[in-house]
Amino acid sequence: MKILSDTHIHSDNSFDAENTVLEMCQAAVENDISIIAITDHMEAPEIKLGDRSVFGNMIKQITNSVKDAEVANELMNGKLRVLRGMELGEPMHEPKLTKKAMAIADFDFVLASIHNIRNTEDFYYLNYDEVDVPDLLRCYFDELLETAENADFDSLAHLTYPLRYIIERTDIRPDLEDYSAVIDNILKTLVKRDKALEINTSGIRSIGITMPDIKIVKRFRELGGKYVTIGSDAHRNSDVGYMIEKGIETARTCGFEYFTVFEKRQPELIQIWY
Ligand SMILES: [Zn+2]
Ligand SMILES: [Zn+2]
Repeated sequence: MKILSDTHIHSDNSFDAENTVLEMCQAAVENDISIIAITDHMEAPEIKLGDRSVFGNMIKQITNSVKDAEVANELMNGKLRVLRGMELGEPMHEPKLTKKAMAIADFDFVLASIHNIRNTEDFYYLNYDEVDVPDLLRCYFDELLETAENADFDSLAHLTYPLRYIIERTDIRPDLEDYSAVIDNILKTLVKRDKALEINTSGIRSIGITMPDIKIVKRFRELGGKYVTIGSDAHRNSDVGYMIEKGIETARTCGFEYFTVFEKRQPELIQIWY
């Protein structure tokens, strides 16, 4: 039987998303998806700001997100499994506060992300004419390695995230071969710690490739990677399930016979049907 999952979804409990958890669930059902994870944003450095954060109070937002996911899972009554997740940004910038975030609920699934390196803004906001791109990428991969080695999470989200903005907004086409040593170390660390690598399909829309691309996913497999999760990173209901089948196909092409979903932080392997 063909089973599709989308385990990277934002609801209106994220500052940058607009639809309710239920609306996201309805969109999943319409797209023949049988398992989703709601993974709203939790940016570790924002926790200390509480209500003063420009993103809103993230502790409250995640508390609500988890409640909404639980209610939706009940309402969907077996038609759709709704997992309680979180996208944890920059956990190593604030390890103590991160613990506080992890204690909000019994999460099913935790994604770890880097949206900004220390003491800079989100890659989304950077002016790439003023940035030393090779240096930025080196810092990004170093911080991801630090995260892969130390953070408490299940799957590493959208590896190569800055490429999306660099390729979209500049003529620079970074050659990832220049970073192959550190990328290998990240992948080896995931293997050693039994963590998953996310295949994020949102990059297909903006830059024509998954994040990470097929070459890195293949390398993860070569190095002994067992778990891949597939996520659309939908921020609105029309994007739920976006290119999920393409993401699964990418996993298959790279030698994975299964993709993974996490419930109660435990991996569950789902056979790829083709
Ligand atoms: Zn993200
Ligand atoms: Zn996301």
